[in-house]
Amino acid sequence: MKKRHLLAPTLVALAALSLSACSADTTGEASSESGLTYTVVKNVDLVGSPTYDAAKKAGTVRIGVKEDQPGLGYLDAATGKRSGFDIEVARWIAASLGFDDSQVQYRAIPSANREAAIVNDDIDFYVGTYSITDKRKEQIGFAGPYLVTGQGLLVVKGEKGISSEADLAGKTVCSATGSTPVQNIKQNFPDTRTTEFDTYSQCVTAMLDGKADAVTTDQAILIGYAAQRPDELAVVGEPFSVEKYGIGVAKEDAALRHFINATLTDGGAQWKAIYEATLGKSGTTISQPPVDDYS
Ligand code: GLU
Repeated sequence: MKKRHLLAPTLVALAALSLSACSADTTGEASSESGLTYTVVKNVDLVGSPTYDAAKKAGTVRIGVKEDQPGLGYLDAATGKRSGFDIEVARWIAASLGFDDSQVQYRAIPSANREAAIVNDDIDFYVGTYSITDKRKEQIGFAGPYLVTGQGLLVVKGEKGISSEADLAGKTVCSATGSTPVQNIKQNFPDTRTTEFDTYSQCVTAMLDGKADAVTTDQAILIGYAAQRPDELAVVGEPFSVEKYGIGVAKEDAALRHFINATLTDGGAQWKAIYEATLGKSGTTISQPPVDDYS
């Protein structure tokens, strides 16, 4: 990819862009339903990022997301609006790069296809419950972490007698292909069967159809499904892994990674506002941005 070196701006002009929940979206992509607004930075001080240079030239930033994970990355089919913590983080980062909502193109990409989407330059970055792992880092780079959660279990209330991971022997758990939770089950729970789909919402449907005894993925995701059907579904047990969510970027684009890290580092108040408008409403108790060395 051809690099275009930008001159460092001498003057940084910040302009607040007012975006309402029902603002028209010129790309045809749905905007968020949170009502949160972000400052769209006018003179972005980012030199040496091929991803940013190409996005700026195109006038569009392409962000990979999930759209079936309520509270994190969700698309309401009826309203066409997106919602959730990850969607808001995506909008925040886009604004810090100078792109307003009308310039954001969301692409739904399932867990198994994320590295390929970044490597193949189908997206500029990915924000979607994406755990930072050394194996993934062989192919891509991660900014963050921006949220820490852990693997949990979702069950149909009153069925199957599962109250923690200690009860999984002889059971079938459903998870997404290519995810860290399904790998954990395969490696560390030899007496547990797995069934896989592209997405966790497919797992929830399979469990409600009696085809799995539990759904496993990060607790923050499962809490969103339980909140949708509180009479039927319950999250049980304590988190049994540590999942640090990062923003996936091209491996060679250290400049973009550093830029996003700087935005996250300076954005504690923004993080809290996002948390309260999204995950905080569905009963998660994370409440603090992770303190980490973003270098
Ligand atoms: N955070 C885990 C992962 O990145 C599970 C959630 C997901 O599949 O997005 O694999």
